[in-house]
Amino acid sequence: DELPSPYKRVLLKLSGEVFGGGKVGVDPDIVSALARQIARVVGDGVQVAVVVGGGNFFRGAELQQRGMDRDRADYMGMLGTVMNCLALQDFLEKEGTQTRVQTAITMGQIAEPYVPRRAERHLDKGRVVIFGAGSGMPYFSTDTVAAQRALEISAEVLLMGKQGVDGVYDADPHKDPSATKFADLSYDEYLARDLKVADATAVSMARDYKLPMIFFSLDHDGSVVQVVAGEKIGTTVHA
Ligand code: UDP
Repeated sequence: DELPSPYKRVLLKLSGEVFGGGKVGVDPDIVSALARQIARVVGDGVQVAVVVGGGNFFRGAELQQRGMDRDRADYMGMLGTVMNCLALQDFLEKEGTQTRVQTAITMGQIAEPYVPRRAERHLDKGRVVIFGAGSGMPYFSTDTVAAQRALEISAEVLLMGKQGVDGVYDADPHKDPSATKFADLSYDEYLARDLKVADATAVSMARDYKLPMIFFSLDHDGSVVQVVAGEKIGTTVHA
């Protein structure tokens, strides 16, 4: 069953949490299931770049609360994302999908440096490009990097794959049972409500350059295929 996608090129942000299934580290079963979905949409001709989070290993803010310097803690966070990248790369290649990892902190033995024009060439050839090590700069988040990379490689949409939440709600659905999910939301309303599903820097960057963001759940298998096919799942944040 061929699925016609409305997109030619997408940027998929995978939160670090999903890699560990809520635990520290990488759950190979989860990563291989994700890789199968990505391989399928690439097989259907959609170009896919991925930005990988690292919250399953370290979050700079949490380490800072426990006494570490923020910048060094953030570098630990960025290094964590790279382990997720390698796991995803491995399972994608097992699916027969060609991949390249590009990192914002150079580590030549395992990844290319971030070279946007080269990333676009890889995408044109049907390779999945996996961006790791965040922006290479402390005080940023991988959500913001996802928005920046999406813009720089001219992706048409930023697909924000989350664990444990299936869209944007007007309150935290884990704390407030009356929280309701938005199907659509404007950038301005997202920012005015000070919602936390993605950080405000990422959303304001998307707003400034009119990049649509779709927040969706990675908790059930098949959601990546659905969202790339243009099925209306999750929450779309747009102008
Ligand atoms: N990080 C950073 N600069 C970046 C991207 C990430 O310093 O450009 C650090 C930051 O400490 C962050 C951690 O890496 O907490 C993991 O990234 P993030 O929290 O965005 O991952 P996710 O929430 O998507 O799992």
